[in-house]
Amino acid sequence: MPTTERAARAGESRFPGEVDVAIVGSGPAGAAYARVLSELAPQLTVATFEAGPLISDPPGAHVKNIGDPEERARAQRSSEGPRPLTEAASTDTMDGYASEQRRLQRPGTFLLAKGWQREGEDGLPAAAMSSNVGGMGAHWTGACPRPGESEVIGFLPDLPVWLREAERLLDVSADVLADAPFAGEVRKRLAAAVDHDRTPDRAVQPMPLAVRRTRDGRLLWCGADTVFGDATRSNPRFTLFAEALVTRVLLDEAGTSVRGVRVRDRRTATDHTVAARYVVVAGDSLRTPQLLHASGVRPPALGRYLNDQPQVVYAVRMRDLPDEPAVPQDGAGITASSGVAWVPFTDAHPFHGQVMQLDASPVPLADDLLPGSVVGLGWFCAKDLRAEDRVAFRDDALDEYGMPEMEIHYRLTEADHATIDRARTEILHAAAALGEPLDDTPPLVFPAGASLHYQGTVRMGDTDDGTCVCDPAGQVWGVRGLFVAGNGVIPTATACNPTLTAVALAVGGARSIAETER
Ligand SMILES: Cc1cc2nc3c(=O)[nH]c(=O)nc-3n(C[C@H](O)[C@H](O)[C@H](O)COP(=O)(O)OP(=O)(O)OC[C@H]3O[C@@H](n4cnc5c(N)ncnc54)[C@H](O)[C@@H]3O)c2cc1C
Repeated sequence: MPTTERAARAGESRFPGEVDVAIVGSGPAGAAYARVLSELAPQLTVATFEAGPLISDPPGAHVKNIGDPEERARAQRSSEGPRPLTEAASTDTMDGYASEQRRLQRPGTFLLAKGWQREGEDGLPAAAMSSNVGGMGAHWTGACPRPGESEVIGFLPDLPVWLREAERLLDVSADVLADAPFAGEVRKRLAAAVDHDRTPDRAVQPMPLAVRRTRDGRLLWCGADTVFGDATRSNPRFTLFAEALVTRVLLDEAGTSVRGVRVRDRRTATDHTVAARYVVVAGDSLRTPQLLHASGVRPPALGRYLNDQPQVVYAVRMRDLPDEPAVPQDGAGITASSGVAWVPFTDAHPFHGQVMQLDASPVPLADDLLPGSVVGLGWFCAKDLRAEDRVAFRDDALDEYGMPEMEIHYRLTEADHATIDRARTEILHAAAALGEPLDDTPPLVFPAGASLHYQGTVRMGDTDDGTCVCDPAGQVWGVRGLFVAGNGVIPTATACNPTLTAVALAVGGARSIAETER
């Protein structure tokens, strides 16, 4: 079962000379291409090249499913690329949830070393990436809401079908934590506060989560391993190569058709060429445009319309709760006590509310805390989209991977500040319905980049008018066989967590390849 490659003989390349489809990146978006092609076009040879190491089993599995804390910490440190945290760092991504640190590094991720802010601009001080098999999908929270109203990409009639398919690939369920202690009470109180002008599909509800329960009752966080699924793992024509950095997409002389990829074997520091008829770049919203830039594919919109969702957070302790027994920790190191409620985005309230009953309090509290009784509210805002907000790349300086160094140009506009002010007001309104503030600090606005939901840098459009990079299938305008995937493809100003939408768009792209190859 060649999910990961067999060992090559000494001196030989471990990579094949040619494949039909080369996928760059093994996060949820790249994994979706591998899965859909394995199901619909099993005659194609497909190879995924991932810059980072294999950290979990099955490949791409979420680190929260690793029961042993030391092993989990090792997997996180191995994902943190060139700048891992210290060994003593927490393994809990919720630690620091209410931190005001400007450059908070979450376990499993690493920050940009340079270029994250230009003088006089806001920049993206908290912009981060993960380098490991499974990408950020091995570290995420798994919230998978559907986009609504103006978040929806209007020129994609098949989007609802692709979203349903993405929910299947990610194993999304709204039920899995819906009956956690006090979760119903949280939703009831929120609904009373905010549902008066909402349609039923945009009313308060349990958050759809990429989390499932095993037969013995444990919770499993779904990541790229779930998306790959057995269909990919049992596909004899699929191979996943870890520690394989794609440094260039190779094109024909005219630059209008892909020919393959140049791959650096990070184990042997040797470079190899792999011919491919299709190349799918799914390297996250910062590194996908970086690879296109390095390959000389530089459409005017490349790296532009960069947007991150400004995030406002607050926490309360639920009032008037009955005493309930504590729920024990389960074997996988996560508790079954945490409910997650969803306050959907609407055009009238342009925020996505993620309301999480916290496993542990973000500020020191009394020990008599009932599980589920401390609630963290996170309001994600839709950004005012502008071409000037961009990740640019230097031709005269390289990053730690030897790729063109990034330079972030990013400002919050007056409209953004007004939206953030409104989010502060609305989060306080929702919080007041739930309980009492933990202390007297006002809602905290996270530093730009902290949402980890960067979008727009390889955005999709329905015409090649210079404001987008790819067509509705994800194929780069004017370069046959070159596809882009991930949150960077999303062209709308969303406030909801983007991974479900990115996987849905990958489903659409993979289906279009399968259709062409039929
Ligand atoms: C703590 C945390 C919580 C989150 N919570 C949520 C949530 O609740 N809901 C949600 O929707 N999103 C959440 N996210 C974000 C989510 O994880 C990402 O949206 C998602 O993983 C993006 O998928 P992707 O496949 O596009 O990119 P990634 O998962 O980032 O994967 C990209 C992969 O490509 C590899 N790569 C890059 N360049 C190259 C190259 N040149 N050659 C080879 N490989 C390359 C990288 O090493 C990486 O492994 C969270 C993230 C974190 C860290």
